Amino acid sequence: MAESKQPSVSPFRAGITFRCPVCGKGKLFSGYLKVTPQCAVCGSALALQDPGDGPAVFVILIIGFVVVGAAMFTEIIYSPPYWVHAVLWLPAILGGSLGLLPLLKSLMFAARYHFDAAEGTSGDTQP
Ligand SMILES: [Zn+2]
Repeated sequence: MAESKQPSVSPFRAGITFRCPVCGKGKLFSGYLKVTPQCAVCGSALALQDPGDGPAVFVILIIGFVVVGAAMFTEIIYSPPYWVHAVLWLPAILGGSLGLLPLLKSLMFAARYHFDAAEGTSGDTQP
């Protein structure tokens, strides 16, 4: 590993504040989900550790569980017409997914850096 870690940066704090996991100060995203190539504060190469589609899987599972559960509850208790389901759950799916995706990507990015994980490895740096 080329960069030295600063153990004082909490991966959870860096994740929920969308900050660089190395210094905890620079912005992680340069767009909605685009990871900035290099931290503006510490200069770490951030784009190399992009978690890719991993956060989307968790968003699908979490939003699916919540919305399907709420839709089933609503159907069983109130039995509303189908258009009520469409009005309730389509915005919930869109808003929940688009709102949760940057947060989970940032958290996964910080955890990935903290545990020194990479694709195809166990994260164990010992030979
Ligand atoms: Zn930084």
